[in-house]
Amino acid sequence: MESSTETSIGERKLAAGCPSCAKTDNLRRCSGCKVLQYCGQDHQREHWTKHKSACNGVRRARKSLEDTKQALINHPDFKDDNPFVKHVGWFWKIQETRPYMMGMSKLTQAIGELDHMDAVQAELDIYMELLRLCPGDNMGIRGSVPGAMLRLGKDQECYDFIKWFETAEDYDRNFLNIKNADIFEPVDFVRAKPVGDLSRPLCLILLKIKLLIEMLRLRNGETRIKQLKANLIKEGKPLPDELFSAFAKDTRAQTITSPALRARDDLMNGQGFSEKISTLKEQIDKLYDMIDAQNKHIWPAMDNPDEAFKRELTGMFSMGSEDEMRIALNETFRAWLEVPGATEFIKFKIHGKVDELL
Ligand SMILES: [Zn+2]
Ligand SMILES: [Zn+2]
Repeated sequence: MESSTETSIGERKLAAGCPSCAKTDNLRRCSGCKVLQYCGQDHQREHWTKHKSACNGVRRARKSLEDTKQALINHPDFKDDNPFVKHVGWFWKIQETRPYMMGMSKLTQAIGELDHMDAVQAELDIYMELLRLCPGDNMGIRGSVPGAMLRLGKDQECYDFIKWFETAEDYDRNFLNIKNADIFEPVDFVRAKPVGDLSRPLCLILLKIKLLIEMLRLRNGETRIKQLKANLIKEGKPLPDELFSAFAKDTRAQTITSPALRARDDLMNGQGFSEKISTLKEQIDKLYDMIDAQNKHIWPAMDNPDEAFKRELTGMFSMGSEDEMRIALNETFRAWLEVPGATEFIKFKIHGKVDELL
């Protein structure tokens, strides 16, 4: 994230569809970056002055990646076996694969400059490919995955990934083996002292905050549904039960944005959200304290992000340091800004005023 001061202010919505008009069907991909898609040449031309420099950056990164890929395939050590077939899982450990891995990482940085939903998806695809090639993750890609998933609205995938990351005994043998875990389950599986990665608990607390905000919205919606029902009865024109519950279900589906929640029958039938609200509040408190114990700079930085982003990122950091905080914020902050209400909620939490929101 190069222009971090610019992005640290206020909530934002990740652009999707045609960058000029947001249309989402019949799009054609930009042949330069092969990431953004346009509804037609007019809008592509219109967007070009804004897009040109990032588009060229992606094109160059892709070209040099292609060169390292060919060099790897043609390397004399691999002349009888394609490393992309024979050595999956051993990338990075095999020295010759490193330029390719680094090229992939550089490509994600270039794609990140496009700042668009299609770009986040493309970044995530590369992260997952890097993990497939090297599940041990010597490059530290895993910290960027949960934030990208949250930005794409992939809440269930994000939760499964975090849980896998936290609990897997062997990343090679148990590669991504958690599917559809219960997003409301206790957070005790989060290791109290993980090694130098704060992005994971930061994304988990963000996910829990997102769920809590959705639950509060659902609760408000439920009050409105009840009022409407009472009004209809008062006016002497009640809807038949079946029709009314279909209407209520529809309203709930529109209130909730997370597909992970829409998939739950209890919530869709207007049940269970009160307990979920107190469960989530407790889990958020727990994660908040855990993160605070790991790095005391995180929450003050969240309270005043512009200040936190003022200094340059460094590659090296020690646990609990300000540099560690900056790296974790850099990996997760866009996700925070893109979850409606999340930065406001965390400010209330920092100032001990969450009960005002509940
Ligand atoms: Zn368009
Ligand atoms: Zn392009």
